[in-house]
Amino acid sequence: MTANLSNLAAIDAAHHMHPFNKMTELNEKGARLIARGEGVYIFDGAGKKYLDAFAGLWCVNVGYGRTEITEAVSRQMQELPYYNTFFGTTTESATLLAQKVTEHAGQNINRVFFTNSGSEATDTWFRLARVYWKAQGKAEKVQVIARRNGYHGSTVAGASLGGMKLMHEQGNLPIEGIHHIGQPYWFAEGGDLSPEEFGLKMARELEAKIDELGEDKVAAFVAEPVQGAGGVIVPPSTYWPEIARICKARNILLIVDEVICGFGRLGQWFGHQHFGVEPDMAPIAKGLSSGYLPIGGVLISDRVADVLAQEEIHHGYTYSGHPVAASAALANLAILENEGLVDRVRDDIGPYFAKAWKSLEDHEVVGEAQVVGLMGGLQLSPDKATRRRYAKPDDAGVLVRNHCLENGLVMRATSDRMLASPPLVISHAQVDEMIEKLRGGLDHLREMRM
Ligand code: PLP
Repeated sequence: MTANLSNLAAIDAAHHMHPFNKMTELNEKGARLIARGEGVYIFDGAGKKYLDAFAGLWCVNVGYGRTEITEAVSRQMQELPYYNTFFGTTTESATLLAQKVTEHAGQNINRVFFTNSGSEATDTWFRLARVYWKAQGKAEKVQVIARRNGYHGSTVAGASLGGMKLMHEQGNLPIEGIHHIGQPYWFAEGGDLSPEEFGLKMARELEAKIDELGEDKVAAFVAEPVQGAGGVIVPPSTYWPEIARICKARNILLIVDEVICGFGRLGQWFGHQHFGVEPDMAPIAKGLSSGYLPIGGVLISDRVADVLAQEEIHHGYTYSGHPVAASAALANLAILENEGLVDRVRDDIGPYFAKAWKSLEDHEVVGEAQVVGLMGGLQLSPDKATRRRYAKPDDAGVLVRNHCLENGLVMRATSDRMLASPPLVISHAQVDEMIEKLRGGLDHLREMRM
């Protein structure tokens, strides 16, 4: 590091506006400087070591410090640092990445449109869905249905499609043409229904919304396989098959947001494969490059691609298919393949993590431990028998999160749910370390008697 720590903190407070923060509050403590990473660990500026159970921001799937990626990036930088894909040109890495990424996506998906982020991927499919219907003489099919408490990014379309109240309140969102239905969050909203009954009920809200808007007006429905930022909410088993049935019966596009669940997180290459549904389009990002460089995209099924191919598409980004970002993604996917990391999540570390995560259900302040692959959501509750919530749910989560942080474990809290999404290379011993430290945080919450 070139500058000293207190200098950096002062510079940061003076000049750096952070996402999703209130700067006056952040500047009271100062931003924590992360200096380096290695495997599943990160180190702050003072050298303190943390187990990163959140893989950066759900993205560092292959772990930190992979020289295969940095070397590929360096080679590409020297050979061709940039060229566009607009005017009938391409680059080797963009083309090979398009092949590689669609190879893992299933038989009916053979095209990808590149973006720089998940939010841009959201804006892309949102526009393409409307182009798709218009091209078929159905220009009225423009309405899009999404879910409360879903997350699809922070651009205007992304924040509108997401179902986050606080985001909607800033800037008069959602924009016109976007509607929200309920989420399959059984613990909080399932009432007396069994999870399976509740899953069906929530899926059928989609049908009711289509009826309300008119089938000939609805372009698409979007959802994350497992709601990530909303709290790692794993839907009941009845939910996804019913959603897929409704989309098909009502002829609306099914958009599965794979930004978090893609690239092995759920023990399959993509989350929709885990739940056995076929999307018409699927935004991707994060694990595509393990966050080493920004890159995203939209996977496009043949059904949609064949129609779009007949249209001139007035959409694209300067950095769509950026050759250096694409080379990072190619090297990252090679690691996932060569080390069998996706299978490892399904057959080895995933089941190990699931058992450890589920074991937390014996703790007094845990209402429910949900897990798929290497993605865990832990519901905090002062009384699991009645599924009671804490009076101040946000405070409960923050208390556990901060305790973990002090003890060298990075986890995220969404309200009263603790979220884990560690790098796919995490070892059994590191899972044990994570669970032990998290237990410490849960003990602390119990002792605080909130
Ligand atoms: N979609 C989902 C499911 C996400 O979780 C995110 C980000 O967390 C996005 C889209 C937006 O991605 P980005 O932050 O890269 O724009």
